[in-house]
Amino acid sequence: MNRKNAWAAYSRERTRAAYDFAEEYKEFLNISKTERECVDTIVNEAEERGFVELARLIEDGKSLSAGDKVYAVWMNKSVILMKIGREPMENGMNILGAHIDSPRLDVKQNPLYEDSGLAYLDTHYYGGIKKYLYVTLPLALHGVIVRKDGTTAILNIGEDEDDPVFFITDLLIHLSQEQMAKKTSEAVTGEALDLVVGNKPFIIESGGEDEPDEDDTLTRGQMYALNQENAEKNEAKRLRGAVKRAVLSILKDEYDVEEDDFISAELEIVPAGKARDAGLDRSMILSYGQDDRACAYPSLRAIFEAGDVERTACCILVDKEEIGSVGATGMRSRFFENTVAEIMNLTGTYSELGLRRCLAASRMLSSDVASAFDPNYASAFEKKNIAYLGGGMCFHKFTGARGKSGSNDANAEYIARLRDILDKNDVVFQTSELGRVDLGGGGTIAYILALYGMEVIDCGVPVLNMHAPWEATSKADIYETFRGYLAFLADA
Ligand SMILES: [Zn+2]
Repeated sequence: MNRKNAWAAYSRERTRAAYDFAEEYKEFLNISKTERECVDTIVNEAEERGFVELARLIEDGKSLSAGDKVYAVWMNKSVILMKIGREPMENGMNILGAHIDSPRLDVKQNPLYEDSGLAYLDTHYYGGIKKYLYVTLPLALHGVIVRKDGTTAILNIGEDEDDPVFFITDLLIHLSQEQMAKKTSEAVTGEALDLVVGNKPFIIESGGEDEPDEDDTLTRGQMYALNQENAEKNEAKRLRGAVKRAVLSILKDEYDVEEDDFISAELEIVPAGKARDAGLDRSMILSYGQDDRACAYPSLRAIFEAGDVERTACCILVDKEEIGSVGATGMRSRFFENTVAEIMNLTGTYSELGLRRCLAASRMLSSDVASAFDPNYASAFEKKNIAYLGGGMCFHKFTGARGKSGSNDANAEYIARLRDILDKNDVVFQTSELGRVDLGGGGTIAYILALYGMEVIDCGVPVLNMHAPWEATSKADIYETFRGYLAFLADA
C-alpha cells in the first residue's frame, strides 16, 4: 500500500497554513495545561465566536434553530460545543470527540510535610506514566483550592519566566549502583514522587526560658554538657516544622488558603515550560499534554470553522479519559446524552425516541493520539501497520489489547465512507495500530459512544514519546487532522 508523506504532498500555501495553524495550537497548549484551563480557554474562544451557553438559553427560555451555536460546560472540566444543522437532529449528528485531561501528578489531600529541612507535597500520579521520567524536571503547579465558603483560589505557579518552579529529586549517579540494577518500573516508585516546595525555615524566636540554673553540685564539665544539650534542644525546637510553617505562611499570604483547604483542592503537577518548535526545519512540536490536545484543539477549530452545516455538528472535549473515562466529567457520564436532550428540546424536537434516534444515527470521529513509529524502538511496532510522523491524520480501525479486547472495532462500511470523504477533500491520512500484536494496548472513548449504536472510529494525530513529560508531533499531521475534521463535519 502506498504511504504518503504530508509534507511531500503540500503546496507552498498549505505548508504555510500548517505552520500558521501550529502557532495557534502552541498558544492553546501554553495556556491550557489542565482540563480546567482547557475549558476556560475553550469557553472564552467559543463566546468570542458567538457560541452561547446552554444553561443561559434554558434560563432565558430561548429556542435554537439551524445555524445557532451553543456550548455546555460540565463541572468546569468537560465541554460540548454544537452548531445546529439544517437537517432535523433526529437524523443524527456529526460528532468530534477528544479528551482534555493528560497524564500528570496530582497532589494528595493531606500533602504537606517536612523532612530533614525540605518541605514536600505528596502526590499520586494520574494516568499512565513512566515514573522515572518525572524526576529532576522543572515542574509547575496548576489547579484550584476551594475554601469551605465556596470561594476558589486558582494556582498557576511555574510557567512565567519569573515564577519559581518545583522539582522531584533523583538519587545521584555516584550512589545509584542499587537503583540502576532495578527494573525501570521500580527504579522510581510512586511514593518517591514527592514534590520539593521549600527549604527556608520560618523561625519563631523563643524566650530563652530553658537556661539552666546555676547548680554548684555540678562539675564544670557537667555544666558544659548540660548547656550543650539545652542549646541543641532549643535549636531543634526553633527549627521543628519551620520549613513547612514557612510554606503555610506563604500560602496564607498569597492565596488566603490554610492547610485543611488541601482537602478540597485539585492541584496538578505538570512539566513547567512552553510548547516549542522542534527540529532545524521546525516541522515538529515538543510540548507537554499533546495527548490529547493535539486532537482536542483541531476538533475545536473545526467546529469553529465549519460553515453552515447540513447535519448538526458536535464537538465533545472530555475529562478523565486517562483513568478510564470515569466520574461525572468522564465520557461514561450521562452529561453528553443529557446535553443532547436539552438541545433537542430547545430545537422543539425532543422526545425520548427522537433522542435515541439522534444518537443512533450519529457518526463520530473519536480522536486520541496515535503511537508513531520510533526507529530507536523498531521492534515494538509492526512497520506496515503503524503511524509515521508526517504521514498525516491517522485512523485506527480498532484499539484494545490481546485480541482487540476493549476496542471499538469500526465498521468497514463506515471506513469506506470516510475514505471517500477524505480523498475528495485531499486530506493526507494513514491507518495504523498501536503497536505489535500482544505487546500491550490501550483504550479511548470510542467504545462509549458506540454504545448508542452510532458509527464510531478512532483517529488522531501520531505522537512520539506518548505520555512522557514532553511529547512530539508533526505540524503537518496536526493540520491534516484539522482538515480531516472539517471535511467530516461538512460531508459525513
Ligand atoms: Zn489520549
